Amino acid sequence: MDVEAVRVAVYESFSRTGRAPDLDRLAARFELPEAEIEEALQTLADGRHLVLGADGVIVMAHPFSSVPLGFSVMGKDTLWWGGCAWDSFALPHLLPWEGEVLVATRCRSCGRPHAWSVGTENPPAGGQVAHFLVPAARMWDDVVHTCSNQRIFCSRDCVSRWLTATGQDEGYVMDLPTLWRFAARWYDGRLDYGYVRREPSAAHDYMRSVGLSGPFWGL
Ligand SMILES: [Zn+2]
Ligand SMILES: [Zn+2]
Repeated sequence: MDVEAVRVAVYESFSRTGRAPDLDRLAARFELPEAEIEEALQTLADGRHLVLGADGVIVMAHPFSSVPLGFSVMGKDTLWWGGCAWDSFALPHLLPWEGEVLVATRCRSCGRPHAWSVGTENPPAGGQVAHFLVPAARMWDDVVHTCSNQRIFCSRDCVSRWLTATGQDEGYVMDLPTLWRFAARWYDGRLDYGYVRREPSAAHDYMRSVGLSGPFWGL
């Protein structure tokens, strides 16, 4: 069983249609029983290439998501759930045939709508900030919770208000250019066969190269 080929097929479905592939489609494509595909998906989930729900359905294949996590990403004729702020800003880099995509969200604190045209050349304009709640070392403890809490706010004031209202400690705040640089190369090669994934808590050189610092990133 070529598990990596199954991974590529999952990513191809997400990248081309915005959706996870159905199990029966995958089984038909690989001419294998569904149980064997399920096993391959579990292997991929164990390797943190995918996130499966309790019922075995594909919830996330970073930076793609089957579930809303606060962001939508609109291409020419495809609509994606954007995952988190990091994932949404990564999508144009992974989907170069789309050109600029429209990333939309609401401020987690006050609900104000925000949208940017995000491409691969320059960071989008805007004074908003991204706030990441969960430190790199714990991001995979509950990755859906982690992604749900990597959001964009109007300003640092909105971040502070939300943290106070929810009784949580500040994680890490970055401006949009930093978020864009951070997202730009993180998922390089993810759609290709033979991809080697990076662990956020271990990617020290990458984190430093995009301007992240401090214990939140394990630096
Ligand atoms: Zn706000
Ligand atoms: Zn994410």
